[in-house]
Amino acid sequence: MTMTTHERADAKPAKFDVRNPANGELLGTLPIHTADEVNAAVARARRAFRVWGTLPHKQRRAHMLDFRRELVRRMDDIIDVVHRENGKPRADAAAELMLVVSHLTHAANRAESLVKPKSVTAALFANYRSRITYHPYGVVGVIGPWNFPIHTPMGSISYALAMGNCVVFKPSELTPLCGKILVECAQAAIPIPDVLQLVTGLGETGAALARAKVDKLAFTGSAATGRRVMAAAAENLTPVIMELGGKDPAIVAADADLDHAAKSVAYGAFWNAGQACVGIERAFVVDSAYDTFVEKLCKEVRSLKVGDDELAHYGAMTMPKQTAIVREHVKEALEQGARAVVGGMESFKGAFIEPIVLVNVKPSMKVMSDESFGPVLPIMKVASTEEAVRLANDSNYGLGSAVYAKADADRIADAVDAGMTSINSSLVFAAMGGLPFGGRRESGFGRIHGDEGMMEFVWSKGTTSELFPMPGFGMVFSDPKQKLTLMRQTIQTVFGGNVIDDVTSVLRKLVGK
Ligand code: NAD
Repeated sequence: MTMTTHERADAKPAKFDVRNPANGELLGTLPIHTADEVNAAVARARRAFRVWGTLPHKQRRAHMLDFRRELVRRMDDIIDVVHRENGKPRADAAAELMLVVSHLTHAANRAESLVKPKSVTAALFANYRSRITYHPYGVVGVIGPWNFPIHTPMGSISYALAMGNCVVFKPSELTPLCGKILVECAQAAIPIPDVLQLVTGLGETGAALARAKVDKLAFTGSAATGRRVMAAAAENLTPVIMELGGKDPAIVAADADLDHAAKSVAYGAFWNAGQACVGIERAFVVDSAYDTFVEKLCKEVRSLKVGDDELAHYGAMTMPKQTAIVREHVKEALEQGARAVVGGMESFKGAFIEPIVLVNVKPSMKVMSDESFGPVLPIMKVASTEEAVRLANDSNYGLGSAVYAKADADRIADAVDAGMTSINSSLVFAAMGGLPFGGRRESGFGRIHGDEGMMEFVWSKGTTSELFPMPGFGMVFSDPKQKLTLMRQTIQTVFGGNVIDDVTSVLRKLVGK
């Protein structure tokens, strides 16, 4: 990605180039939208919200499903642009599109039942009828990364749209054509203009969106950028969802099916060239399973093909800067006593990194503590699953995790302090519309996907109406002496002893109703 054409008097670049990371081919040149242009998009979205936000759910669902149909109709174009812009194999681009349409379907189908108004009772205020209603925020800003350039942003966009919001989307500067094609599909399918809009540019355009008067911001990217985005959003007190980085652990217990665990950990660690926020970045293997696991994993990893062709299991690193980070992590680990059992420093081949597996690693090494975001897996031998859990949790991150075990699988999984855990599998939670997705600690907060993720895109309103006046409990002034007596009696009778289920009848007796 390079900046290009100088068109404005202030000599700021107005456009940027997008290139294929595998071969440098120029794929397109897109505008760098200014803060004024971002604000104008937000204003258009607010006008669109007056229509989209008030549509009956059934109609909105129909439009969402038309959007889905358009994505499917343009499947080959989408696969092509994801492959060429991100560098991942076409098969993985297709898998990503499948997740997109699956989440979109889930969100469209689930929205109506989730936001039905709820009646609630308030024990002390039995003379009131109360309800909770749910309302879309209005305009949601979505800022996305490049590693899953359609799946990740659509994890916010689908759910935000389904709940009645309009969206202004800023894709990563490395994969803006992926964002463009998503927005084209929405605009072709949804007859209301500006329900989903695209703004493109570098970090500054993202910062403008974070600072714009959006009603909520869903950010996916690194923890470092997340901090800056939160600071910008704070200027308008805009609520944010932060989907940030990870250092996901895999724990392999003594009774795990090691054939399966080795294949599954290899997939979790090397899929997408390890450029997955929920990629397995550390493996802790119990002593008695260690040698066999390492042997089986190395066999699986050695069979992986890396490249830009149809046979490749994974492709180019999307961002040259990331290759330098992976190199630094591996180099430091080797200098500090780690041993490469697959690959090593010779694995770095231009835009491609062949798989690297390290043993004899220590928790203090960067490769064990910082997000590497590349095809490298450090494996550490541990005495027990308790030790594995302790080391897994001793991290600034807490996004995903994987547990390979039989007897104790649930107990181990529950002890891992991370937003998601897959048992005897890896990564799969990200694909499931029903499961909330999000992090702990520096992996972020708030959720996408699942009911929790959908509820992020509505605000709740409590409404209560008095059915009949209850003397002494009305929200009007009364005789202070009588009130004191009544309050003391109520506190004593209702809350002074064992829990009383039927507070309402006790209260009615007290006030003679
Ligand atoms: P990044 O933080 O560099 O950029 C993310 C987005 O933020 C881009 O669109 C970028 O243009 C924009 N941006 C940059 N500076 C900005 C600023 N000051 N204000 C507003 N926006 C700004 O991240 P990346 O390199 O694109 O993505 C990789 C990171 O994303 C990894 O850390 C990965 O773990 C994380 N990630 C997390 C999830 C998740 O769901 N938790 C999913 C995918 C990726």
